[in-house]
Amino acid sequence: MQAKMSLIVPCYNEEACIPLFYAEVNKVYEQELKQRELELEYVFVDDGSSDQTLSALKSLSEKDDRVHFVSLSRNFGKEAAMFAGLEAATGDYVAIMDVDLQDPPSLLPQMVDAIQKEGYDCVATKRSTRKGEPPVRSFFARLFYRIINKMTTTKIVDGARDYRLMVRPMVDAILSDQEYNRFSKGIFSWVGFNTKWLEYENIERSAGKTKWSFWKLFLYSVDGILAYSTAPLALVSVIGIIFCIVSFISLCFVVTRAALFGDPVAGWPSMISIMFFLGGIQLLCFGVIGLYISKIYLETKKRPIYIVKEKK
Ligand code: UDP
Ligand code: MG
Repeated sequence: MQAKMSLIVPCYNEEACIPLFYAEVNKVYEQELKQRELELEYVFVDDGSSDQTLSALKSLSEKDDRVHFVSLSRNFGKEAAMFAGLEAATGDYVAIMDVDLQDPPSLLPQMVDAIQKEGYDCVATKRSTRKGEPPVRSFFARLFYRIINKMTTTKIVDGARDYRLMVRPMVDAILSDQEYNRFSKGIFSWVGFNTKWLEYENIERSAGKTKWSFWKLFLYSVDGILAYSTAPLALVSVIGIIFCIVSFISLCFVVTRAALFGDPVAGWPSMISIMFFLGGIQLLCFGVIGLYISKIYLETKKRPIYIVKEKK
């Protein structure tokens, strides 16, 4: 029996990239995948694009039966788009790829071999260097990976891309995790399975522009920490304990001094600064707790992760 490979391709305003991507993957398929007795299926996800992405996908699917698409009712973000694609995919092997050709299709044959011949369940990719990235962004990215890996037992790999090929049982495991706040870099690692890592140099986008700003990346990293670690809550408790001890010691000191030397009224400015400082710490701690509560709030609503407008 022929095995089937599904390619999940999230697209958000990517009209320019779709034809390039399709041509490139077809080339690789004809040259190297076909002879491996692999059937191919494309699952494009239109993540609520406002350009001609959907019509580009429709005309592709009319020309080529292997092309399927899921069009979401609005922009739900890449995480939700990937999930929609995973649910729609029917292949024995499933790959997730960006449409901008930053995830080279030429790696696919190698990935298939690692699964079929070397017995891996998953082949994942990561960038070997951060060359070509603004230094500030690299610095914060590295810092993020250092911090999150200290805080959680789920390994979050520095420079890991979402580009990966997985076997069906792993895909089903990912689908069984129905959480609303999705952080794929964590989910892929959390479900386990035997993963081989391939490295490659970062490649420039083929067309269009990136959807990630520094601020979006920052919020995404906070989401990652909240989803995979409760260490900030523990930290907040430790800060509380430290301040209790310090205040007890200073109370003893002040009482003793007043008993021995009387109580001259002085030190008002220092008292105010201490009050401000403690007020600030308290607000910060409430903020941390609030972030977790907001996540619980969204999770308990059990909203669907995405909504389909149209599919084929
Ligand atoms: N993407 C998406 N929904 C979004 C943002 C991005 O489906 O809300 C898709 C996008 O079309 C692309 C992939 O996710 O195929 C990666 O996006 P991008 O290239 O902008 O990210 P970068 O490579 O710069 O990290
Ligand atoms: Mg990209």
